Amino acid sequence: MDKVDQLAGWIEQSQRIVFFGGAGTSTESGIPDFRSAQGLYSESGQRGYSPEEMLSHRFFQREPELFYEFYRTRLLHPDAQPNSVHHLLAELEHEGKLSAIITQNIDGLHQKAGSRHVLELHGSVHRNYCISCGHTYSLDDVLAQEGIPRCPVDHGIIRPDVVLYGESLDSDVIGNTVAALGEADLLIIGGTSLTVYPAASFIQYFRGNYTVLMNASATAHDRHADLIITEPIGQIMEQIRQRRYSR
Ligand code: NAD
Repeated sequence: MDKVDQLAGWIEQSQRIVFFGGAGTSTESGIPDFRSAQGLYSESGQRGYSPEEMLSHRFFQREPELFYEFYRTRLLHPDAQPNSVHHLLAELEHEGKLSAIITQNIDGLHQKAGSRHVLELHGSVHRNYCISCGHTYSLDDVLAQEGIPRCPVDHGIIRPDVVLYGESLDSDVIGNTVAALGEADLLIIGGTSLTVYPAASFIQYFRGNYTVLMNASATAHDRHADLIITEPIGQIMEQIRQRRYSR
């Protein structure tokens, strides 16, 4: 049996699928990841700072202008559209077969595809708030300004509700993540190098039947996977969709 048939079969057998994803889920939507050859780490000329430094709490506090320059040009992709990964997962949720998407992404593409039960470990670029009065703003509000966005109410700095390096993850999101993984029967891990902690550590709570790892490059978790697929995840998910439609 080929790998796509194997995955398609496990998907049909399962009732509580959980997808755990990262930046590689959105590369086929045109959003670069961090650690691929074309990823943000491969770029030169970041003024000597790594993406992790520029996306840290410390950097945001000390250099908000540089933070926003990097954030606006590298992490905001308002026109990106969901790809076959996002669409297949939304369809599975709609059919009642998928119980949760746990994502390290901040791009909101799962919701754009129609998914509802999305646990955003690192927050979302679509939620923003004033650090002095707490007033909330949309991504469009941030895009309407240049440089550091300011709160029209009290002129405080508006920041994205994303978890910067050095900040803690939301405890409710962690609780829901652990619960979803503990109840899942199939875990599909996709497009993540599994190097960002604590996010990567949560997959240990999975107790179900099979773990599928869909990633272009090797990860530290490969030896625990029942099936490893290294071809582009969007193309594989599209093949699964085609097989499901043609049944
Ligand atoms: P990462 O860059 O460390 O790893 C991405 C992995 O996906 C790589 O191992 C790469 O080989 C693989 N990959 C890339 N394209 C693929 C494809 N089409 N098919 C299969 N595999 C593919 O990303 P990460 O593990 O998510 O960690 C980076 C952190 O940076 C995340 O926590 C996230 O918050 C943030 N980030 C988010 C976005 C986004 O929201 N889209 C983009 C970049 C970074």
